[in-house]
Amino acid sequence: MTMSAAGAEPIGRFGEYGGQFVPESLMAALAELDRERLSAFADSTFLTELDHLRRIVIGRPTPLYLAQRLTAEVGGARIWLKREDAAFTGAHKINNTVGQLLLAQRMGKMRVIAETGAGMHGVATAAAAAYFGTPCEVYMGAEDTRRQSHNVARMKMLGAQVHPVSTGTQTLKDAINEALRDWVANVESTHYVIGSVVGPHPFPQLVGDLQSVIGHEARAQMLQQAGSLPDAVVACVGGGSNAIGIFRGFLDDPGVAIYGVEAAGSGEAGAPHSAAVGLGRPGVLHGSRSYLLQDGDGQVLPAHSVAPGLDYPGVGPEHSMLKDSGRVAYLSANDSEAVSAFQALASREGILPALEPSHAVARGMDLARDLGEGADVLVCLSGRGDKDVDIVAREVGL
Ligand SMILES: *Cc1c(COP(=O)(O)O)cnc(C)c1O
Repeated sequence: MTMSAAGAEPIGRFGEYGGQFVPESLMAALAELDRERLSAFADSTFLTELDHLRRIVIGRPTPLYLAQRLTAEVGGARIWLKREDAAFTGAHKINNTVGQLLLAQRMGKMRVIAETGAGMHGVATAAAAAYFGTPCEVYMGAEDTRRQSHNVARMKMLGAQVHPVSTGTQTLKDAINEALRDWVANVESTHYVIGSVVGPHPFPQLVGDLQSVIGHEARAQMLQQAGSLPDAVVACVGGGSNAIGIFRGFLDDPGVAIYGVEAAGSGEAGAPHSAAVGLGRPGVLHGSRSYLLQDGDGQVLPAHSVAPGLDYPGVGPEHSMLKDSGRVAYLSANDSEAVSAFQALASREGILPALEPSHAVARGMDLARDLGEGADVLVCLSGRGDKDVDIVAREVGL
């Protein structure tokens, strides 16, 4: 492993986080990707095409929705939802995959690979690859292929090949390792579509740029529909991409308080959870330095959440910097709080939210109560909950 960014030439850093902790054989591909993304985002033809794809392939702009009955029940600030659940394929992940496929095409990479945990990023990659006519292979932990067989079927129907990964805990962490191995072996022909603001530079920057459409849209929509910026913005944090996407729209507005919500798991003392920012320590995983769940010997600890998409022991480096600087406050919500928020949104608004953003809804309701009438709370509703109905039915005994 080389640690080029840790030495004299600190590229791709978020403060002391980020970097490129990867095998030498990937350095050229990362450099090429960095050059291409910078030239693409400065190229009006690329930006016009991306804008067009956002409308027809993603379904943007997504609505900003005032949750009136939920607001009335909580009895405080108005609760607004940025409806990424309305994006095609049902979550924000498609914002990233369509952009990366467009970039892969520009780079002449004829094959894409991806990792997936619960399957949502795999589905979003498979859908974008089908649109572009690009062969797609997805690495998924064998344990996850059993838990999320529905998404395995969706990926196959969309034309992707799914490789179950039987190493380690047979979950997302191992799927990323396997995807990185494939990339090393096939780097000339292949682009690796990473699924969150994680991995070596330039991925955290690239994915954040592609997801920032959420925040830029939401900021303009708040000004238009609410007449002012929100007092607080709240998003769930797994790897951290939907959160960075909405946060980027408000980081330069000092009057807007920003909250990331991690998964506390069952909430029992000593039980596994996914609060890497809140309870982890800095370390290196998947090519970059960031807060990380690890034991005393630096071994990565298994993560847990009722929300499959939050089940990751690391977090993007930009979040680590935002925590240290104090610009973003990191909170957590446990499994049962998320399930209660899911039920509240379902019964009050007719929306089945994914369990991941249900964590953000739980803390958003508290903030609305604390801030009181006259204030506005904006929650990123990162995806829809159809994928989670079996889990919730089990949790509440339906
Ligand atoms: C994957 C997923 C997440 C977690 O990923 P981030 O990179 O933290 O956004 C959150 N919500 C939904 C709906 C997801 O599918």
